[in-house]
Amino acid sequence: MCIFCKIINGEIPAYKLYENGFVTCFLDISQATKGHCLVVPKKHVQDIFELPEVYAEEVMKAAVVVSHLLKEKLGVTDINLLNNSGVGAGQTVMHFHLHVLPRYADDEIDFHQVDHEPNFAELEKLYAKLTQ
Ligand code: 5GP
Ligand code: ZN
Repeated sequence: MCIFCKIINGEIPAYKLYENGFVTCFLDISQATKGHCLVVPKKHVQDIFELPEVYAEEVMKAAVVVSHLLKEKLGVTDINLLNNSGVGAGQTVMHFHLHVLPRYADDEIDFHQVDHEPNFAELEKLYAKLTQ
């Protein structure tokens, strides 16, 4: 059984912040930033490609609830929501989860690594491939 299924089943401990019939949310064991937590569907699915719509809805709803909690209790005003699906994307626990990552002025995290002129020819080709 995977580590998140064990947390869901209560076999190993976690600092749970929110839970309902579909999802649970607990503090990430390594706090990338203060308040970093994970929203996890109670059904074992590996990644975004396996996530049923009903669980996708519940995961996002829980992320909203927990974001408000972080705001109320820690004064958090800035948050990234992040999912790593697939090893190539950095997924290390193969049970879908959404990171709720509070952001702080001095946290030195920067997702804005792409900085170039837009290539409209490539965008046209890509859009055609995606829509035809
Ligand atoms: P990923 O890299 O798959 O997107 O994220 C996995 C996350 O799970 C990591 O941020 C890691 O710190 C967290 N994690 C791994 N094992 C445990 C655990 O046993 N308990 C908790 N609370 N978090 C864990
Ligand atoms: Zn699992």
